[in-house]
Amino acid sequence: MAEILEISTCSLSSGSSGNCIFAACGETYVLFDAGRSAKAMTQLLSQISVKIQDINAIFITHEHIDHVNGLKVLINRYKIPVYMVWESFDNLSGDYKSALGEVINFISPKDKIIIGDMQIECYPTPHDSAASVGYIIGHKHNSDKLKKAVGIATDIGYMTKEITEAMCGCRIIYIESNHDLEMLKNSSYPAQVKQRIKSKRGHLSNTECAEILPYFIKNGARKIILYHLSGENNTKELAVKESKKSILDAKLKVGTVYLGVAPRSSPSKMVSVKISLEINQNENPENPGKKILNPLNPNFEKKVLLNPKAKRININPNPEIPEIDADNIAEVL
Ligand SMILES: [Zn+2]
Ligand SMILES: [Zn+2]
Repeated sequence: MAEILEISTCSLSSGSSGNCIFAACGETYVLFDAGRSAKAMTQLLSQISVKIQDINAIFITHEHIDHVNGLKVLINRYKIPVYMVWESFDNLSGDYKSALGEVINFISPKDKIIIGDMQIECYPTPHDSAASVGYIIGHKHNSDKLKKAVGIATDIGYMTKEITEAMCGCRIIYIESNHDLEMLKNSSYPAQVKQRIKSKRGHLSNTECAEILPYFIKNGARKIILYHLSGENNTKELAVKESKKSILDAKLKVGTVYLGVAPRSSPSKMVSVKISLEINQNENPENPGKKILNPLNPNFEKKVLLNPKAKRININPNPEIPEIDADNIAEVL
């Protein structure tokens, strides 16, 4: 018997005015960052028919205000458990710290935290905050491939080995595409600020984002959401154009890839990954009665065949794999 599980996610807000991503797996609802006011986040959630009281946990990438703005009021009102690294917490102001005192959970890069049906893995990112992390979201079941449904990489000065390793295999990726290099060069920002944005602890440019996308697509990414676009030094059109060109130039044979941009202050469309859980009595020693297969990930088959207790299922015996072209890169947001 196979049970189809779905992990669904959308961006609620993106950019310097505030960042927040929503993810759901079964009845587990989690927010990643809380960068808008508590009132705005409650309204944004209501637009996707979710009540703030139903959020099980909030994970914070780093302590910059565009990622924690609404946290204090949300916590004072709703006592939602919050997860962040110690250094980020330590750099918050005293009123934030006392609000978080009751609900804070400290995490470290490489930690894997189970919240309801979800597993959330944390990895380090380079940024000019006291500390900064990204997150990988998956199902809690004991299978590596089920644990890489969604990857979040935002506020990153450059693409590191840790980011590429962590995000490799995720079906949905949120990735920073912060600025167009020419727009930044010609902007009215002071030279020091421009330097900070371009530095290895600043923000990822459209060019750097576009360069890595074929690698992620080769390794399983099918829905790409360009995130944290600068309001001053970027446009949706420029970000999409550069990423689209890079994907097309790579001539990958992987089928349809969706490319979208997270809106600045409204929810994006919900994007989902389906996971097949094969349920069979008496066979999984770790989780009696359950056996896991993931037909969405082609590499998973090898793992299944190596496991004498698992059984192979083939949902698409004769897949037609077209080359990516301009027609099947679609904007989903
Ligand atoms: Zn930041
Ligand atoms: Zn930011």
